[in-house]
Amino acid sequence: MSNEKENNKVDVIVVGGGPAGVSAAVTVARGGKKVVLVERGSFAGSKNMYGGVIYSHAAKELFPDFENSAPIERFVTKHSYVLLSDGGSTTEISYKNPEHNKNAFVSIRAKWDRWCVEQAIKEGVYFAPDTLVRELIVEDGKVVGIKTEFEDYYADIVIIADGVNSLLAKQLGLRKEIKPKNVVLGVKEVIKLSAEVIEQRLALKPDEGISAEFIGGPFSGMFGLGFLYTNKDSLSLGLGVSLEDLKTKKIKPYELLEQLKSHPFVKELIKGGELIEYSAHLIPEGGYKCLPVLYTNGAMVAGDAAMLVNNVHFEGTNFAMLSGKYAGETALDAIEKNDFSSNQLCLYKKKLLNSFILKDLKTYKDVVKILTARSSSFMGYYPDRINEFFNIFTTADGCPKKSKFRKFVANFFKKRSLSELFYDAIEGIKLVFGILK
Ligand SMILES: Cc1cc2nc3c(=O)[nH]c(=O)nc-3n(C[C@H](O)[C@H](O)[C@H](O)COP(=O)(O)OP(=O)(O)OC[C@H]3O[C@@H](n4cnc5c(N)ncnc54)[C@H](O)[C@@H]3O)c2cc1C
Repeated sequence: MSNEKENNKVDVIVVGGGPAGVSAAVTVARGGKKVVLVERGSFAGSKNMYGGVIYSHAAKELFPDFENSAPIERFVTKHSYVLLSDGGSTTEISYKNPEHNKNAFVSIRAKWDRWCVEQAIKEGVYFAPDTLVRELIVEDGKVVGIKTEFEDYYADIVIIADGVNSLLAKQLGLRKEIKPKNVVLGVKEVIKLSAEVIEQRLALKPDEGISAEFIGGPFSGMFGLGFLYTNKDSLSLGLGVSLEDLKTKKIKPYELLEQLKSHPFVKELIKGGELIEYSAHLIPEGGYKCLPVLYTNGAMVAGDAAMLVNNVHFEGTNFAMLSGKYAGETALDAIEKNDFSSNQLCLYKKKLLNSFILKDLKTYKDVVKILTARSSSFMGYYPDRINEFFNIFTTADGCPKKSKFRKFVANFFKKRSLSELFYDAIEGIKLVFGILK
């Protein structure tokens, strides 16, 4: 190896300072090896956005004491599913359990990612911000380094954690272009309101928070939904809809967001708030059937770059953190054995297969197919009917209930045949519980 290569060589290079990258890097550093974490943004989190909820188990696995110093906005003490109808009515199903209170928390990515990288630096990771990786260096069929705008850098292993578009995984031929039906465009507004107003409107105590998902209403008949998460003194309000639906229905995501904001339920919650941030990002939601090749000679792919997202349970950040950790552990094992071939790095896939990540993705492997085919039922017809039912059930207007319920039942079956209802029921069970075999 030439002197220049020797001087610019470390054990592991990680590309991408998001949750997957930082977890991979800190795992390698904890194993006593030299690792560089390369991020194109001026700080970790500067280019990133998400809805807002992180499951605590993954954060704890990486940073056991995170609760003491991490930038947590609020723990999620209430999970709500809000069924909207076009007519403006709302049915809310909520789950609250004090034993669950620390299960998930809301955090702002720009703060969370930055905090994670600060911890990683303390543990020995060399962090290189403002550095765009242009391509991977491949010699004799093995990834041996990266080309940046400044210099070339070398490593025994490169961990690719460059997010949903992963140009680097594509360069290696590990991934294909994602089809519009397998990718969701998310847009989000952060709306400033005082902590007191948020707590009063959502019936929360100062240390409590909400994660709410909106089904139906503006998203009627689409593969998509809305969300609302509580920060300390702002609300994150947004939505995610498949690119295919946006394209075929010729609707812009900000138009859907405006419709969501003007729904009476949401309008009341954000009244008087000040818009302080607008952002958009893609989410890879193809699931198990769209997984790329996860490793090759000298490289592994983690997080969104590997399309590891569970869209039923809104798990992306925790998958990213744990897949990064497994890639880091596999790198340490490979260094120990001085073998960086794909034969050795297949351990990474084994770790994913043995974990809940690939088990859950397999369970929900048909979700995209079901939701694409039955979105008019699950995202439109049933939320509307449930709202209609509660409208009748909770109205006392001097008219006998029997005739109203008769009309409701007649309408229900007029628009859905028995065989369609049966089919929806089966597909609905698969949607919630996955394929239980
Ligand atoms: C609207 C929306 C809502 C979401 N809500 C949630 C939620 O509530 N909970 C949840 O768990 N998940 C959520 N997700 C998913 C979650 O954000 C992702 O799964 C997670 O961020 C993936 O982490 P990652 O590290 O793999 O990728 P990213 O977070 O995308 O990080 C990739 C990093 O790589 C850097 N990078 C890219 N290319 C290069 C390059 N060539 N050179 C150098 N650096 C590069 C980027 O700047 C970035 O910092 C949401 C996503 C969206 C879009």
